[in-house]
Amino acid sequence: MGICCGECHVELKSDDYVTLDEFSTLRHTYCGYDLIAELIKDIGTYRNIKTKYWFSRERTK
Ligand SMILES: [Zn+2]
Repeated sequence: MGICCGECHVELKSDDYVTLDEFSTLRHTYCGYDLIAELIKDIGTYRNIKTKYWFSRERTK
């Protein structure tokens, strides 16, 4: 099981480029292209985003 794109609901793959928005929603970069830049918290491959935010989230719990 995995996390799906908030827009097209296709499961994200490790090498997909995704955007993370203020509400912690992940989208493919090509699905979130119309997001305004201020809402985008980060952008990168799903693998990198997952690694980066997984740990910070676990620590703050
Ligand atoms: Zn998508």
